[in-house]
Amino acid sequence: MDIRIGQGYDVHVLQSGLPMWLGGVKILSDKGFVAHSDGDVAIHALCDALLGALALGDIGHHFPDTSDEWKGVDSKLLLSKVCALVAEKGYAVSNVDVTIALQAPKIGRYVPQMRECLASVMGIAVDRVSVKATTTERLGFVGRGEGCEVWAVALLTTL
Ligand code: MG
Repeated sequence: MDIRIGQGYDVHVLQSGLPMWLGGVKILSDKGFVAHSDGDVAIHALCDALLGALALGDIGHHFPDTSDEWKGVDSKLLLSKVCALVAEKGYAVSNVDVTIALQAPKIGRYVPQMRECLASVMGIAVDRVSVKATTTERLGFVGRGEGCEVWAVALLTTL
């Protein structure tokens, strides 16, 4: 059996009046993420972890932000396409772990919903999907409420 590990990282800028999507879930917030897609920075980091595990480049390579095809796209669609690519290469997602750093709003109560959503898109059990939310204690660009930072790791095994 072959085992692959990948990590992903993404940042998006927060701006007033935009919808906020995180982990496939709509978050009640007066700010959202500036992006070509729906701005779901958590899914973007997760996609990069999955792609990274198989050395398949990054999300920008597969879904360029210069393409109208991906303008305003639901990031869940990008995640399902990445998972299809993983399966096509003969791998299954064993587990993923996602850490979201956001100062406000507090998103802890959305975590169960995010886990359910990501597990369903990836076609794996919820207990294989970890989502963790943290602030940065008001330090740095996250702490000042200027953006959101996400780290993800993914473990893949051969089918
Ligand atoms: Mg992104």
